[in-house]
Amino acid sequence: MTDAADLAPIREAVRALCADFPGEYWRRLDRERAYPTEFVAALTKAGFLAALIPEQYGGSGLTMTAAAAIMEEIQASGCNGAPCHAQMYIMGTLLRHGSAAQKERYLPGIARGDLRLQAFGVTEPTSGTDTLSLRTTAVRDGDHYVVNGQKIWTSRAEHSDLMLLLARTTPREQAKSRTAGLSVFLVDMQQARDNGLTIRPIRTMMNHATTEVFFENMRVPAENLIGNEGEGFRYILSGMNAERILIAAECIGDAKWFIDKAASYARDRVVFGRPIGQNQGVQFPIARAYIGMRAAELMVREAASLDEAGKDCGAEANMAKHLAAEASWAAADMCVQTHGGFGFAEEFDIERKFRETRLYTVAPISTNLILSYIAEHVLGLPRSY
Ligand SMILES: Cc1cc2nc3c(=O)[nH]c(=O)nc-3n(C[C@H](O)[C@H](O)[C@H](O)COP(=O)(O)OP(=O)(O)OC[C@H]3O[C@@H](n4cnc5c(N)ncnc54)[C@H](O)[C@@H]3O)c2cc1C
Repeated sequence: MTDAADLAPIREAVRALCADFPGEYWRRLDRERAYPTEFVAALTKAGFLAALIPEQYGGSGLTMTAAAAIMEEIQASGCNGAPCHAQMYIMGTLLRHGSAAQKERYLPGIARGDLRLQAFGVTEPTSGTDTLSLRTTAVRDGDHYVVNGQKIWTSRAEHSDLMLLLARTTPREQAKSRTAGLSVFLVDMQQARDNGLTIRPIRTMMNHATTEVFFENMRVPAENLIGNEGEGFRYILSGMNAERILIAAECIGDAKWFIDKAASYARDRVVFGRPIGQNQGVQFPIARAYIGMRAAELMVREAASLDEAGKDCGAEANMAKHLAAEASWAAADMCVQTHGGFGFAEEFDIERKFRETRLYTVAPISTNLILSYIAEHVLGLPRSY
């Protein structure tokens, strides 16, 4: 399903759902730094968050293009998909690398939304982007692994039943290659919370439900290891294209929201006896933001098509994320400028969306790391780190 006509009903359905969650709803949550429980429940009930789960496990079995359209429409409607977007893609690691028994056990519940698998424990305070240097360890003890260490920026941990955790199972110096020795686990967070798992919220510039988590002798059943011990880094990498494509689609949605808002204001706002949008100094930045958004949108579609055709899309997913994050941030900045003082007023929602979209040139991967991926893997330049 790749053409616009096929996706129109999905886009309309997402828009209709989002209409029940207007600006006031998001402003209140933003002020209280509260989780959008009702919004996430509505998306779950409509089946949108199960878009990428195959029908045999109770999901909608849609394509990456369709999933991207869902995320884009959420953002273009002025809502925020960040509190739940990971429910769509974290399960990909389980789907691709989990055993038949694990998939039967977890995927139907994830598809229904009874099991929220939307916490992703990769980043650590000391290692940052250098994932291979992470320090959290999982040591085998009988039919369990014992986990010790810390993660940071583990978003939605307080609103998840399961966490996908990356931990070191073989000390770095004993691992058979640079990328070996890390393993992936499904952690039952409800059970772990009184048994070695501590979650501390981190307050950020936008309402993001992010946290830091601490593991102190947390026991994880060995049957919750995904795939083979020591191969976890490869499994995590294989899920990153989906994450990048879907977040790029969210950025396209944000850019569309900012551009629509700015164009509409520039048509209506009259200063010096004429609409401000009649001045080229006001129209050109809006046109420039539109061009940037459309170009980025093409790359997002290209990456999604390659992904759903089962082709390698590492470069395209990275470029899509980069272009889309730059486009949404440029559109956000333009939208504030077009609104003058009103761009700063809470009731216009622009300052909230401005803060929300700022994240995406940093997370889930920062601009420099994308540039170095393209330099090394596409252009054959020497590895810089
Ligand atoms: C709100 C929020 C939510 C997040 N959610 C999650 C989550 O759910 N799960 C999770 O695991 N992580 C999450 N993250 C972490 C996110 O993926 C990282 O913040 C991001 O990848 C950057 O890593 P870092 O913060 O450690 O920066 P660092 O690695 O410390 O880098 C800092 C800066 O230096 C640059 N830099 C570093 N090394 C190089 C180099 N070799 N060459 C050039 N530049 C370099 C980086 O590009 C960056 O600009 C989240 C982060 C935030 C802020």
